[in-house]
Amino acid sequence: MSTAVQDIAPQQEADTGRTERLFEAQRGRALALRTSSAADRIDKIKRLRQAMFDRTDQIYAACHADFAKPAPEVDITEILPVVMEANHAIRHLKGWMKPERKRPTLLMFGTSAEVRYEPRGVCLIISPWNYPINLSLGPLVSAIAAGNTVILKPSEMTPHCAQLMAEIVDEVFDENEVSVVQGAVETSQHLLGLPFDHIFFTGSPAVGKIVMRAAAEHLTSVTLELGGKSPVIVDKTADLDKTAQNLVWGKFANNGQTCIAPDYLYVHADVSDAFVEAMGKALTRLYGDQKAMASNTDYCRIVNDKHHGRVKALIDDATERGARVSTGGTPANEDNYIAPTILTDVDAQSRVLDEEIFGPVLPIIPFTDTDRILADINAKPKPLALYVFARDNEFIDKVLDNTSAGGTCVNHSMVQFLHANLPFGGVNNSGIGNSHGHYGFKAFSHERAVVRERFSLSFLFLPPYKGFTKWFIRF
Ligand code: NAD
Repeated sequence: MSTAVQDIAPQQEADTGRTERLFEAQRGRALALRTSSAADRIDKIKRLRQAMFDRTDQIYAACHADFAKPAPEVDITEILPVVMEANHAIRHLKGWMKPERKRPTLLMFGTSAEVRYEPRGVCLIISPWNYPINLSLGPLVSAIAAGNTVILKPSEMTPHCAQLMAEIVDEVFDENEVSVVQGAVETSQHLLGLPFDHIFFTGSPAVGKIVMRAAAEHLTSVTLELGGKSPVIVDKTADLDKTAQNLVWGKFANNGQTCIAPDYLYVHADVSDAFVEAMGKALTRLYGDQKAMASNTDYCRIVNDKHHGRVKALIDDATERGARVSTGGTPANEDNYIAPTILTDVDAQSRVLDEEIFGPVLPIIPFTDTDRILADINAKPKPLALYVFARDNEFIDKVLDNTSAGGTCVNHSMVQFLHANLPFGGVNNSGIGNSHGHYGFKAFSHERAVVRERFSLSFLFLPPYKGFTKWFIRF
């Protein structure tokens, strides 16, 4: 049996001595890494990628032990995104590292200028449990590509994945360059007290605020990949069967425990009954009937009792307020199972329309007035994702023009995450900064402005002043 499937209890206490020793050692190493070549960094990324390939079975086992995540979902949503991130960096890193030449402006005539991408230094990556491998090792690839040292703190809620990543990192890297520190809130808070050069945090908006407050103490830069409620709008012109299929996958993969999962859904009243029926059919097609779903190994589980209770309470609150369960709504007492649940006739005061659901529950709200639902969306914090399903391009543009979101996918859900040439990130409450590909490299780099003097007119700025200055302000 691999170490990944042993019963591992979450580590709670912070090993402050080890953490501080690692931090100091990484500080020294970070200086040396400033001049590391693209070839050095690519070599490290390749070794990390190879270690993942070598331990694929252990990754499946760890994800299964932590939340019964099906192996094909591990392939698509844990391993593939990291491998894609690695492949993209390997292909493009040389170009990303090249200083970017900038043309002189008129006033700066006679100088040459460039932006140099220098490593930020010692970076802290704090990751969540819902895609434990992807959201830890993906940012790690970007951090290495940018030439940094890293302390990675995975979530304590997925201890098998955390332990496996500690082993992988230990095997691939010198701990003075990359190391994993396991632990829960106390460990995280101890790390946040150290003067890192950059913090890359993925998690909830509430903890994002704690991270940003701690970072302010040292004026450490941050990338915050947060969450929130991601709305979906289904217009009457949408292809209902295809929409239902794409939404069932986007909502119920990983058991709805996805930061960009469709959270609540507006559907045009003209097609709402037909759409709810299409959702039921798509569910049966993808996961089997209600009975089969409970034992379907393609269907993940809720991560732990606490979250199972939280999602169950959201369903109970909605139904007590009169919501109708169109399908599902049957949390089991064991195995952290909750059937894919679709709610209609949901009261506006229900918690399910207020809190991030982060589970397999989808409230559906019929609409007729587009302006009204856009106003409702704009009255809430800006979402990480907003989805629109329609064949009418004017409708799609109206939604895009009149809302703000970290990212949008038209006629599909979730796949924006897999596009290596697009930034991935939120806006305000759903996040600050971006990850993925070139954007991830830049998140972990400082853009340093460099001007080289050759024969500029700057001598005209020098005292004793001769009255030229009034000409400059007209430039
Ligand atoms: P979380 O914020 O509870 O925890 C994230 C990390 O922060 C964990 O490593 C945890 O140990 C640490 N942490 C928790 N409380 C802390 C505290 N008080 N002080 C310091 N550190 C603390 O998030 P989670 O429950 O692991 O993940 C779910 C949330 O993450 C959801 O809101 C989801 O939308 C969001 N998320 C966002 C993205 C994204 O890319 N934007 C991806 C996945 C998840």
